[in-house]
Amino acid sequence: MLDHIDHIGIAVTDMEAAVALYTALGLRVTHDETVPSQGTRAVFLSAPQGADIELLGALGDDTPVGKFLAKRGAGMHHICYAVPDLAAAITYCQHQGYEMIDTTPRIGAKGKLLAFIHPKAMGGVLIELYEMKRGERRAN
Ligand code: ZN
Repeated sequence: MLDHIDHIGIAVTDMEAAVALYTALGLRVTHDETVPSQGTRAVFLSAPQGADIELLGALGDDTPVGKFLAKRGAGMHHICYAVPDLAAAITYCQHQGYEMIDTTPRIGAKGKLLAFIHPKAMGGVLIELYEMKRGERRAN
């Protein structure tokens, strides 16, 4: 069902400092978007190969990332897997008994369709599923 890890989400309290840390290691910023519907600013960085990093800043204390930062502090927030068919993946997860945060796809950063599996269902790790576009790179 899962194709490949697309990105790893990291919650940050100081976006500019976090971007500086990763760009100094050679990653480059490929996307920077404020997503008011999710109360976040998402900055994606790419390495020459492999999964991207998504830095997540909170637009306020009362947003999902703001609450995460208050409770757990800065650090790893989620792992995002690409799937070929998101609606089918959600249905599959539900039939397997995974608790879903999203039971229907929603639109996130970059206009991508996504859904989250609840961390309670995954040993404390928030899992994002996003739908690959037709013809998008697949894992070997
Ligand atoms: Zn993400």
